[in-house]
Amino acid sequence: MGTEGRQTRGSQTGLRVLPRGGCQKLISEKIIKQESLNKQMEIHSIRMGPLTDCFLVKGDQAVLLVDAGFPRHEKRFHRRLEELGFQPTDIKLIVVTHGHADHVGSLRALKRRTKARVAIHRREGPLIRHGVITVPPAVTAWGRFLSVLFRFLSFLGRFEPVEPEILIDREISLREFGIQGRVIPTPGHTAGSVSVVLRGGEAFVGDLAVNAFPLNMGLGIPAVAENIQEIYASWEKILRAGATMIYPAHGKPFPADRLRDKLVRISYQEDRKSNNPRRERKDNDFKHCP
Ligand SMILES: [Zn+2]
Ligand SMILES: [Zn+2]
Repeated sequence: MGTEGRQTRGSQTGLRVLPRGGCQKLISEKIIKQESLNKQMEIHSIRMGPLTDCFLVKGDQAVLLVDAGFPRHEKRFHRRLEELGFQPTDIKLIVVTHGHADHVGSLRALKRRTKARVAIHRREGPLIRHGVITVPPAVTAWGRFLSVLFRFLSFLGRFEPVEPEILIDREISLREFGIQGRVIPTPGHTAGSVSVVLRGGEAFVGDLAVNAFPLNMGLGIPAVAENIQEIYASWEKILRAGATMIYPAHGKPFPADRLRDKLVRISYQEDRKSNNPRRERKDNDFKHCP
Protein backbone atom coordinates (compact mmCIF):
# COMPACT_ATOMS: atom_id res chain seq x y z
CA MET A 1 0.00 0.00 0.00
CA GLY A 2 3.05 2.24 0.28
CA THR A 3 1.40 4.52 2.73
CA GLU A 4 4.41 6.29 4.20
CA GLY A 5 6.07 6.46 0.82
CA ARG A 6 2.99 7.84 -0.93
CA GLN A 7 2.72 10.66 1.56
CA THR A 8 6.32 11.67 1.08
CA ARG A 9 6.50 11.33 -2.71
CA GLY A 10 7.20 14.51 -4.58
CA SER A 11 7.38 16.55 -1.45
CA GLN A 12 11.15 16.74 -1.60
CA THR A 13 11.29 17.97 1.91
CA GLY A 14 15.04 17.60 2.02
CA LEU A 15 14.78 15.65 5.25
CA ARG A 16 18.06 15.95 7.00
CA VAL A 17 18.62 13.03 9.22
CA LEU A 18 20.73 12.89 12.31
CA PRO A 19 23.46 10.33 11.84
CA ARG A 20 23.28 7.32 14.09
CA GLY A 21 26.86 6.17 14.21
CA GLY A 22 28.38 9.64 14.33
CA CYS A 23 26.60 10.46 17.55
CA GLN A 24 27.21 7.21 19.35
CA LYS A 25 29.74 8.65 21.75
CA LEU A 26 27.57 11.63 22.63
CA ILE A 27 24.55 9.39 23.12
CA SER A 28 26.34 7.03 25.49
CA GLU A 29 27.51 10.01 27.55
CA LYS A 30 23.92 11.18 27.63
CA ILE A 31 22.73 7.83 28.93
CA ILE A 32 25.11 8.08 31.87
CA LYS A 33 23.86 11.59 32.56
CA GLN A 34 20.30 10.37 32.20
CA GLU A 35 20.80 7.75 34.91
CA SER A 36 22.19 10.27 37.34
CA LEU A 37 19.43 12.75 36.56
CA ASN A 38 16.82 10.06 37.00
CA LYS A 39 17.89 9.68 40.61
CA GLN A 40 16.34 13.09 41.18
CA MET A 41 13.70 12.72 38.49
CA GLU A 42 11.17 9.91 38.83
CA ILE A 43 8.96 8.93 35.89
CA HIS A 44 5.75 6.97 36.34
CA SER A 45 3.22 5.98 33.71
CA ILE A 46 -0.44 5.75 34.68
CA ARG A 47 -2.90 3.81 32.53
CA MET A 48 -5.79 6.12 31.64
CA GLY A 49 -7.82 4.11 29.15
CA PRO A 50 -7.30 1.38 26.56
CA LEU A 51 -3.65 1.47 25.42
CA THR A 52 -3.37 5.01 26.77
CA ASP A 53 -0.88 6.30 29.35
CA CYS A 54 -0.25 9.61 31.00
CA PHE A 55 3.07 10.36 32.69
CA LEU A 56 4.00 11.72 36.07
CA VAL A 57 7.42 13.37 36.30
CA LYS A 58 8.78 14.19 39.74
CA GLY A 59 11.45 16.86 39.55
CA ASP A 60 13.52 18.15 42.44
CA GLN A 61 10.89 20.75 43.34
CA ALA A 62 7.60 19.79 41.72
CA VAL A 63 5.56 17.13 40.01
CA LEU A 64 4.50 17.48 36.38
CA LEU A 65 1.73 15.52 34.69
CA VAL A 66 1.77 14.97 30.93
CA ASP A 67 -1.74 14.36 29.54
CA ALA A 68 -4.94 13.38 31.34
CA GLY A 69 -6.25 10.29 29.51
CA PHE A 70 -9.76 9.22 28.58
CA PRO A 71 -12.85 10.57 30.34
CA ARG A 72 -13.98 9.02 33.63
CA HIS A 73 -10.51 7.73 34.65
CA GLU A 74 -9.91 10.17 37.51
CA LYS A 75 -10.63 7.59 40.25
CA ARG A 76 -8.08 5.23 38.77
CA PHE A 77 -5.58 8.08 38.54
CA HIS A 78 -5.97 9.10 42.18
CA ARG A 79 -5.73 5.49 43.37
CA ARG A 80 -2.44 5.12 41.53
CA LEU A 81 -1.23 8.49 42.77
CA GLU A 82 -1.81 7.36 46.33
CA GLU A 83 0.00 4.06 45.71
CA LEU A 84 2.97 6.05 44.43
CA GLY A 85 2.95 8.20 47.57
CA PHE A 86 1.95 11.52 46.01
CA GLN A 87 -0.64 14.03 47.12
CA PRO A 88 -2.85 15.47 44.34
CA THR A 89 -1.63 18.98 45.18
CA ASP A 90 2.00 17.88 44.54
CA ILE A 91 1.15 18.23 40.84
CA LYS A 92 1.73 21.86 39.92
CA LEU A 93 1.42 21.70 36.15
CA ILE A 94 -0.43 19.54 33.61
CA VAL A 95 0.99 19.74 30.09
CA VAL A 96 -1.47 18.49 27.49
CA THR A 97 0.25 17.20 24.36
CA HIS A 98 -2.87 17.93 22.25
CA GLY A 99 -6.60 18.33 22.56
CA HIS A 100 -7.91 14.87 21.63
CA ALA A 101 -10.41 13.26 23.99
CA ASP A 102 -8.06 10.41 24.94
CA HIS A 103 -5.57 13.00 26.30
CA VAL A 104 -7.90 15.53 27.91
CA GLY A 105 -10.87 13.35 28.90
CA SER A 106 -10.24 13.43 32.66
CA LEU A 107 -8.48 16.81 32.64
CA ARG A 108 -11.27 18.78 34.32
CA ALA A 109 -11.55 16.29 37.20
CA LEU A 110 -7.77 16.10 37.69
CA LYS A 111 -7.43 19.87 37.60
CA ARG A 112 -10.18 20.25 40.20
CA ARG A 113 -8.42 17.91 42.64
CA THR A 114 -4.81 18.89 42.00
CA LYS A 115 -5.37 22.63 41.50
CA ALA A 116 -2.59 22.41 38.89
CA ARG A 117 -2.25 24.87 36.05
CA VAL A 118 -2.96 23.52 32.58
CA ALA A 119 -0.68 24.24 29.60
CA ILE A 120 -1.70 23.51 26.01
CA HIS A 121 -0.74 24.88 22.62
CA ARG A 122 -2.61 28.04 21.67
CA ARG A 123 -4.15 26.33 18.63
CA GLU A 124 -5.71 23.56 20.75
CA GLY A 125 -6.91 25.85 23.56
CA PRO A 126 -10.41 26.35 22.04
CA LEU A 127 -10.92 22.56 21.80
CA ILE A 128 -10.61 22.03 25.55
CA ARG A 129 -12.30 25.32 26.41
CA HIS A 130 -15.43 24.17 24.55
CA GLY A 131 -15.13 20.37 24.91
CA VAL A 132 -14.87 19.83 21.15
CA ILE A 133 -14.10 16.31 19.88
CA THR A 134 -12.06 16.07 16.68
CA VAL A 135 -10.62 13.15 14.69
CA PRO A 136 -7.76 13.87 12.26
CA PRO A 137 -7.77 12.42 8.74
CA ALA A 138 -6.25 9.02 8.02
CA VAL A 139 -2.71 8.83 6.69
CA THR A 140 -2.59 5.09 6.16
CA ALA A 141 -5.08 2.58 4.76
CA TRP A 142 -5.46 1.20 8.26
CA GLY A 143 -6.04 4.75 9.49
CA ARG A 144 -9.09 5.06 7.21
CA PHE A 145 -10.72 2.24 9.10
CA LEU A 146 -9.70 3.67 12.47
CA SER A 147 -10.89 7.14 11.54
CA VAL A 148 -14.40 5.84 10.76
CA LEU A 149 -14.38 3.79 13.98
CA PHE A 150 -13.24 6.79 16.09
CA ARG A 151 -15.98 8.99 14.60
CA PHE A 152 -18.56 6.30 15.29
CA LEU A 153 -17.40 5.98 18.92
CA SER A 154 -16.83 9.69 19.49
CA PHE A 155 -19.74 9.89 21.97
CA LEU A 156 -17.50 7.90 24.38
CA GLY A 157 -14.98 10.73 24.32
CA ARG A 158 -17.27 13.51 25.57
CA PHE A 159 -15.34 15.52 28.12
CA GLU A 160 -15.93 18.47 30.40
CA PRO A 161 -14.51 21.78 29.17
CA VAL A 162 -11.38 23.16 30.85
CA GLU A 163 -10.00 26.69 30.91
CA PRO A 164 -6.21 26.46 30.35
CA GLU A 165 -3.97 28.95 32.15
CA ILE A 166 -0.97 28.67 29.84
CA LEU A 167 -1.18 28.86 26.05
CA ILE A 168 1.98 27.69 24.32
CA ASP A 169 3.03 29.08 20.95
CA ARG A 170 6.78 28.46 21.15
CA GLU A 171 9.29 26.43 23.09
CA ILE A 172 9.09 27.04 26.84
CA SER A 173 11.36 26.02 29.71
CA LEU A 174 9.92 24.08 32.65
CA ARG A 175 12.57 25.35 35.04
CA GLU A 176 10.18 27.71 36.80
CA PHE A 177 7.99 24.66 37.52
CA GLY A 178 10.90 22.80 39.12
CA ILE A 179 11.48 20.46 36.16
CA GLN A 180 14.70 20.28 34.13
CA GLY A 181 13.17 20.18 30.68
CA ARG A 182 11.14 22.05 28.10
CA VAL A 183 7.95 21.95 26.12
CA ILE A 184 8.50 21.97 22.36
CA PRO A 185 5.85 22.50 19.67
CA THR A 186 5.87 19.30 17.58
CA PRO A 187 3.08 19.65 14.98
CA GLY A 188 2.00 16.84 12.69
CA HIS A 189 -0.55 14.64 14.43
CA THR A 190 -2.35 17.94 15.07
CA ALA A 191 -1.14 21.45 14.27
CA GLY A 192 -0.98 22.28 17.99
CA SER A 193 0.75 19.15 19.30
CA VAL A 194 3.60 19.62 21.79
CA SER A 195 6.19 17.31 23.38
CA VAL A 196 7.95 17.49 26.75
CA VAL A 197 11.69 16.78 26.52
CA LEU A 198 13.58 16.39 29.80
CA ARG A 199 17.23 17.25 30.23
CA GLY A 200 17.98 13.54 30.70
CA GLY A 201 16.70 12.78 27.17
CA GLU A 202 13.23 11.42 28.02
CA ALA A 203 10.66 12.71 25.53
CA PHE A 204 6.90 12.53 26.15
CA VAL A 205 5.48 12.92 22.68
CA GLY A 206 1.74 12.28 22.91
CA ASP A 207 0.70 10.91 19.51
CA LEU A 208 3.68 12.21 17.52
CA ALA A 209 4.76 8.57 17.38
CA VAL A 210 2.88 5.46 18.46
CA ASN A 211 4.07 2.01 19.42
CA ALA A 212 0.90 -0.02 19.76
CA PHE A 213 -1.34 -2.09 17.57
CA PRO A 214 -4.10 -1.28 16.56
CA LEU A 215 -3.17 2.43 16.47
CA ASN A 216 -0.61 1.49 13.87
CA MET A 217 1.02 -1.72 12.69
CA GLY A 218 3.76 -1.24 15.27
CA LEU A 219 6.16 1.60 15.96
CA GLY A 220 5.84 4.66 13.75
CA ILE A 221 3.55 7.45 12.66
CA PRO A 222 0.03 7.59 14.08
CA ALA A 223 -2.51 6.18 11.63
CA VAL A 224 -4.48 9.44 11.79
CA ALA A 225 -2.74 12.80 11.47
CA GLU A 226 -3.18 16.29 10.06
CA ASN A 227 0.21 16.55 8.31
CA ILE A 228 2.59 13.65 7.85
CA GLN A 229 5.52 15.79 6.65
CA GLU A 230 5.26 17.86 9.81
CA ILE A 231 5.44 14.65 11.83
CA TYR A 232 8.79 13.76 10.28
CA ALA A 233 10.06 17.30 10.81
CA SER A 234 8.95 17.09 14.45
CA TRP A 235 10.76 13.75 14.88
CA GLU A 236 13.90 15.54 13.74
CA LYS A 237 13.18 18.38 16.10
CA ILE A 238 12.99 16.19 19.21
CA LEU A 239 16.10 14.27 18.16
CA ARG A 240 17.90 17.56 17.82
CA ALA A 241 16.55 18.57 21.24
CA GLY A 242 18.43 15.63 22.75
CA ALA A 243 15.70 12.97 22.99
CA THR A 244 17.15 9.53 23.71
CA MET A 245 14.06 7.68 24.92
CA ILE A 246 10.57 8.19 23.49
CA TYR A 247 7.51 7.79 25.70
CA PRO A 248 4.44 7.67 23.42
CA ALA A 249 0.97 7.99 24.92
CA HIS A 250 0.03 4.76 23.16
CA GLY A 251 2.48 1.89 23.46
CA LYS A 252 5.75 1.03 25.12
CA PRO A 253 8.67 3.48 25.39
CA PHE A 254 11.43 2.95 22.82
CA PRO A 255 14.91 4.34 22.06
CA ALA A 256 14.88 7.54 20.01
CA ASP A 257 17.30 5.91 17.56
CA ARG A 258 14.33 3.99 16.15
CA LEU A 259 12.94 7.28 14.84
CA ARG A 260 16.34 8.22 13.43
CA ASP A 261 16.46 4.90 11.54
CA LYS A 262 13.01 5.50 10.10
CA LEU A 263 13.95 9.01 8.96
CA VAL A 264 17.00 7.64 7.16
CA ARG A 265 14.82 5.09 5.35
CA ILE A 266 12.24 7.73 4.36
CA SER A 267 14.94 10.07 3.09
CA TYR A 268 16.28 7.34 0.77
CA GLN A 269 12.76 6.44 -0.38
CA GLU A 270 12.19 10.07 -1.38
CA ASP A 271 15.34 10.06 -3.50
CA ARG A 272 14.37 6.82 -5.19
CA LYS A 273 10.79 7.82 -5.93
CA SER A 274 11.75 11.19 -7.35
CA ASN A 275 14.24 9.44 -9.69
CA ASN A 276 16.95 11.76 -8.53
CA PRO A 277 20.43 10.34 -8.86
CA ARG A 278 21.37 9.15 -5.42
CA ARG A 279 22.86 12.10 -3.65
CA GLU A 280 26.21 11.48 -2.18
CA ARG A 281 25.83 12.29 1.47
CA LYS A 282 28.52 14.31 3.07
CA ASP A 283 29.09 14.90 6.74
CA ASN A 284 27.64 18.38 6.64
CA ASP A 285 24.38 17.06 5.11
CA PHE A 286 23.59 15.90 8.60
CA LYS A 287 22.88 17.85 11.66
CA HIS A 288 24.76 16.92 14.75
CA CYS A 289 23.40 15.65 17.98
CA PRO A 290 23.14 18.35 20.61
ZN1 LIG B 1 -4.40 12.25 19.18
ZN1 LIG C 1 -4.02 9.62 21.49
